[in-house]
Order: sequence, then C-alpha cells, then structure tokens
Amino acid sequence: MIRKTVEHLTKMMNVENDVTNWHQRMIEGVTIDSREVKGGRLFIPLAGENTDGHKYVRQAIENGAGAALWQKDVPGLPDDLPVLVVENTLLALQQLSKAYRDSLSVKVVGITGSNGKTTVKDMTAAVFAEKYRVQKTEGNYNNHIGLPLTMLSLREETEVAVLEMGMSGRGEIELLSKLATPDAAIITNIGESHLQDLGSREAIAEAKLEIASGLSAEGTLIYFGDEPLLAEKITEDVPFQTETFGLGEMNTLYPVSIEQTENGSVFSVNKEPSVRFELPVLGRHNVTNALAAIAAASLFDVPYKKIAAGLRKVELTKMRMEWIEGKKGIKIINDAYNASPTSVKAAIALVSELPGYEKKILILGDMLELGLDEELFHYQTGQVIDGDKIDYLFTYGALGQFIASGAKNALGSDRVFAFQDKQELIKAVNEVLQGGELVLIKASRGMKLEEVVDGLSAQ
Ligand code: ATP
Ligand code: MG
Repeated sequence: MIRKTVEHLTKMMNVENDVTNWHQRMIEGVTIDSREVKGGRLFIPLAGENTDGHKYVRQAIENGAGAALWQKDVPGLPDDLPVLVVENTLLALQQLSKAYRDSLSVKVVGITGSNGKTTVKDMTAAVFAEKYRVQKTEGNYNNHIGLPLTMLSLREETEVAVLEMGMSGRGEIELLSKLATPDAAIITNIGESHLQDLGSREAIAEAKLEIASGLSAEGTLIYFGDEPLLAEKITEDVPFQTETFGLGEMNTLYPVSIEQTENGSVFSVNKEPSVRFELPVLGRHNVTNALAAIAAASLFDVPYKKIAAGLRKVELTKMRMEWIEGKKGIKIINDAYNASPTSVKAAIALVSELPGYEKKILILGDMLELGLDEELFHYQTGQVIDGDKIDYLFTYGALGQFIASGAKNALGSDRVFAFQDKQELIKAVNEVLQGGELVLIKASRGMKLEEVVDGLSAQ
C-alpha cells in the first residue's frame, strides 16, 4: 500500500493549506472508513448519503490515523490536527491513486464488460500469478471509489495489477480507465445490464469501449469479438493495439475443441493446440472468460503451459455457478448472484448441454433494471428453453412470470409454474422431485433466490 510522508502527499494532491509542521510524518495506506484507521493511515472523509465523513476526522486521528483530508467548503476545519485541505475529497482520492499508480512500475490489466468482470479478473490473476507477483481487486471494489482504493493498496513489489472496472452510467469507465491507465484492457462482453439508463445495447457497447480511452501508450484492447457491436466500432485505424477472443474463428484467439464435463470444461486454443486447458468451472461462457485471461497473459509472455496451470487452480466466488448437494440426491447449480438475459441464456444453455441427468429443472427469477422492455426480455428468455432438454420451469416474481409465458409453447402448461412466493415455490419443486435431478437457480441479486437454494439443499 502507499507509504509516503505528509510532505510527499501534498505534492501528489493539490493541498491548499500549510501543513509544514506535519511534513515528516509517515503515512501508510488510505481508508474512507473511520473504523479502519490504525497504522497511520490517511483518512479520507467522503460525503455519504446519510452522514458526512468529516464528522469523524478528529476521532479517526485520535484512533490512529496519521492524517486526514478535509474538503474546503466544509466548515469546522480543526487547526490542531494533521489535516490536509483539498477542493474535493473524492477527487483528491482519485488524484492520489493516479499519482501513486504512475509512480509504480506495475503493469495494469483493466477489466470491464456487462457480465463476467469478476470472473475474468479472478482467472486473469490466477494465470498471471504463474509468472508474476500479482494483486487484484478484492471483492467488487470496482467503482469510482473502490478502484482508487484498490490502486492505493498496491504494493511496491507487485508486478501486475488486475483491476475490475464497473459502471453505473456513461463516462464512468473513461474516468476509471484514465486513473488506472491500463496496459491491457479487457471487455468481457456486452449484455443488457444498465439498459434502463443507457437506452440501447449499442450505447452500452460505447460505454464499455470508454476503457480504451485510458490505455497506456503501448496498450492493447482485448475484446469479445463474437459481439458485433464491438467488432463494428473498432476499426483498423484505432490508436491502440487490439486482440479479440471468443468462440468464433474470426477472433485472434478461439477454442479449437471444447468438451464439457461435470467439473468444468476442457479445451485447447488455435494459437497453441498442443496445450490442454482444464477449467474447473462450468459453462461455455466461462470458456470465453478464460479465453480473455489467456489472451491477456500471453500478451505479457506467460507461457501457455503456465497459463494452463494457473487456470486449473481457478476458484470462483460464492453463488457464481456453485455446485450444491440438494435433498433427494439432486444437484443444484447456485447462480443466484446475479442475472441478465445474456447470463440466464448462457446458464440455460449449460444446463441443457450437461450430460448425465435424467431430469433437469430451471428455477428462474426476475432480472432487474432492464428498462421499458423488461417484460419482453423475460418472455424472450423463456423462449430459448427447449422442451426436449428441460423438464420443468419454475419462475419467481412479477417479471419471472413472463419467462414462464415465453416457455409455455415449448414445455406445455403442465411443466411450467409461476410463483410469487418462495415457500410455495419450494413446496411445488419438492412435489415434482424424484431424485437425482439437476436444478439451476438464478435471478437478479435483489430477488434473494439463495433462500430457495437453502430450501432445497441437503442440510
Ligand atoms: P458485477 O457487475 O456484479 O460486478 P461481474 O461482471 O463482475 O458482475 P461476475 O460476477 O463475474 O460478473 O459474474 C456474474 C454472473 O454473470 C455469473 O454468475 C454468470 O451467470 C454470468 N456471466 C459470467 N460471465 C459471463 C459471460 N462471459 N457471458 C454471459 N454471462 C456471464
Ligand atoms: Mg463484479
């Protein structure tokens, strides 16, 4: 993490008051949480929705913070404390993170996209770790606050930083990318999240492409080439290098064989067909995610054999395609972490394809924040369900019932059930279970379908 004197910090941000008295003080690390100030950290008070961090500045320093920032327009500046006055504390946090990143010799891989950012981040970190000292975004610290904090936590000896960049609207990825100035930037895919705010998938593609605006001088954009919206926008005369990945053979990196197993996928790639990649996570979309990681790692000269070794060790965070033993010997795929039409269709494709199960059941809930066409998106998601491959569909929620409507043609009304109550849904699923079925559970985070997972799991 950042380790600098107060004097040095004043040179990294535009500090407006005189703090000469405190110049020699050593600051280690940065926090925005007044409870995490130990060890001489710099406490940065942000104006939150409910409370303003400035209220905690004195307490933070008493509890061990080495110094704090103070936003100019906030009254009550204490004159007996090591407090650095800045125009705006959030901007100062971002400015400091950029100055710190620029002072390091670290290579940065930035990752954005509608789905799969965290997954690709974890995979990329795992493969780079076979050759380099790597740090990555913890959890989901991927926004205009989380990213600077992550950058400030980088160690001097870290060789590669793998950073997730999320967005809540237009302009945000540009901001994040210009802070982190990635040497390689990955766009995992374009989905439908944020359709409500941005209006069209094309606008979403443009927003994700903002990541290219911060690329370092020799930087490379690595993008999902199966997505025409990206391929169309990236012409030959763009001022950066490009690589593409995806299942299609027009990509610079694509798989030449994919075998799905109970534990994940086994595949090889066009650039090095002799190396077998064994990916211990389910789903074809995760093969695509792995391709993004492979493309990035090979760009930084990680040998394919080492990349394969790194991919074998990948572990995903909870509720992302997690296998759970259910009652009556059923197997549950818990993907209740989140959902959008793209990711639900990917999960349906996976379940439809997986061999070795007599019966397959989908439990799908609302996909939130899809905007005006939300009912249509749910209906269309239902339409991709193949009645020969899926035995029952249970839906939960007001929008979920449109998935049910979309599926009725293929499955018939006696295999499709829509619920508005989780306990009733669990009861109905229990009634059709014979034992040994494969069950997929997926919805947006807000639907809390993990309660259904709990209701069907073995414990
Ligand atoms: P967030 O915006 O919440 O940070 P994220 O982009 O980091 O999400 P992940 O957490 O990696 O995404 O994955 C979330 C879900 O998206 C997974 O559970 C999976 O269902 C789906 N998903 C992951 N990768 C892809 C992909 N390449 N294409 C489609 N769906 C995907
Ligand atoms: Mg994420």
